[in-house]
Amino acid sequence: MPEVPLLELENLHIIRRRPRGAEETLVPNLSLRLERGQSLGLVGESGSGKSLTALAAMNLLPEPELRIQSGAVRFQGQDLRTLSPRAMNELRGSRMAIIVQDALAALNPVRRVRVQMEEVFRFHQRPEGRKEKDARIQLCLQRAGLPDTATILRAYPHELSGGMRQRLLLAMALLLEPDLLIADEPTTALDVTLQARWVREVQALQREQRLGLLFISHDLALVAELCERIAVIYKGQLIELAATPQLMENPKHPYTKAMLAALPRMGYTPQLLAPRQQEKPGKQGCPYAAHCPDVLPICSETQAALSGSAEHAVACHAVKKD
Ligand code: SF4
Repeated sequence: MPEVPLLELENLHIIRRRPRGAEETLVPNLSLRLERGQSLGLVGESGSGKSLTALAAMNLLPEPELRIQSGAVRFQGQDLRTLSPRAMNELRGSRMAIIVQDALAALNPVRRVRVQMEEVFRFHQRPEGRKEKDARIQLCLQRAGLPDTATILRAYPHELSGGMRQRLLLAMALLLEPDLLIADEPTTALDVTLQARWVREVQALQREQRLGLLFISHDLALVAELCERIAVIYKGQLIELAATPQLMENPKHPYTKAMLAALPRMGYTPQLLAPRQQEKPGKQGCPYAAHCPDVLPICSETQAALSGSAEHAVACHAVKKD
């Protein structure tokens, strides 16, 4: 029997409520799945719906402005939208954890780091003794690249650098050994060396704990280093989903190709994305039509469905189906 996915988004439809009751679709019918121990990268430009998808997966959208209108979010087969707030709070932090981009906002500014880390155990009523808790805190700080644990534990968040705060969030996310880690642009505040260390640590955790990772970033090169599969989204729509080697070596969607061409490489001048003046697509048309060099007449009329194989699927009228 096939294993139940660790995380499954099925036809997830996220909307924003506008003033006077109007509604705007931000993520239309997004479907993704992540197996235990696997890593999936979600890439796309700012405003493409990556962070909204992460919040929706944790059932954390700030309602009523933003909400899931339809679709399902399942964690190990359980529909999170049907859980009580109490049951959802118990899952969050213990079995599924999220690291957000703004580490300062995620931490309590008036509590020392030690108090905030111990609160995680208290909140989830973990009965470990002081010795076990301390050992776990030390281990997680070290794994997150914060070896001077005594200084870190005494500090308030504002006394730490942006990079240290970001690593602290990773340490806190790991405290209760979650099955799923959602990391939303977690390495933005880190320099290249620490970024590499972050990637190595998370890869090691994945192997040791069969941790499922949903890694969200606009940095395609970093995602390719860390993730086994990559999902590309554009304006909230999944336009290409492939195993990392396939996507990096043989991108099919024009937007993915443009993203790869814009990656800086030694001795090569990146091609910046240049918008083409063109008629706007109709509501049903391809969201990338205004910028696409391969646009066809059908592109402004209907949107291509995601099709292909489990290894490589793409939503584009110009891509020949095998
Ligand atoms: S569906 Fe049409 S407009 Fe959209 S990316 Fe493909 S070719 Fe371009």
